[in-house]
Amino acid sequence: MFKFLKQVGDYAQETVQAARYIGQGLSVTFDHMRRRPVTVQYPYEKLIPSERFRGRIHFEFDKCIACEVCVRVCPINLPVVDWEFDKSSKKKKLNHYSIDFGVCIFCGNCVEYCPTNCLSMTEEYELSTYDRHELNYDSVALGRLPYKVTDDPMVTPLREFAYLPKGEHEPHDLPANAMRAGKRPEEIVEQMQQN
Ligand code: SF4
Ligand code: SF4
Repeated sequence: MFKFLKQVGDYAQETVQAARYIGQGLSVTFDHMRRRPVTVQYPYEKLIPSERFRGRIHFEFDKCIACEVCVRVCPINLPVVDWEFDKSSKKKKLNHYSIDFGVCIFCGNCVEYCPTNCLSMTEEYELSTYDRHELNYDSVALGRLPYKVTDDPMVTPLREFAYLPKGEHEPHDLPANAMRAGKRPEEIVEQMQQN
């Protein structure tokens, strides 16, 4: 008898717990029912990447001194720096530079530590290919600057959540002069200089 009562008690406890989980799940569903859809019609519409977005790396061949710092700070020693020693100038001469974006984890270490700032991260994120070997960018491919979403006449740029005015969830039909919530970095610097 005691065993039977314990089983009934456990069953009732589990039923209450299951009902609570269902209630929690449905509360999320009902919460979304009163929101407007925020679908982005890619590729006709694209979100503007954030200011510190870490996209495909840009490389300036003429600024590189072949020091290989980027290789040493890279967690996977990825950049390939092909150089030879030029006896006349007694300096390293860069022949070739490449980064394989099929392997890169976009941590930005190489960009951070390069002493001549010849590496920078762009807002390019569309890197899909049918063959991953095509992602091994040589110095020419790395030297290309991407087309900005805001400059592309074929694309309608949309602001992502962080750049929408306070209380706004819908980036479509937003006036261009609508200020985003919070201050821009340069405004914060200006405010700090005034104080
Ligand atoms: S750290 Fe910069 S300068 Fe040095 S090899 Fe790498 S890209 Fe070139
Ligand atoms: S972003 Fe990171 S993983 Fe990619 S090449 Fe630079 S250091 Fe290496």
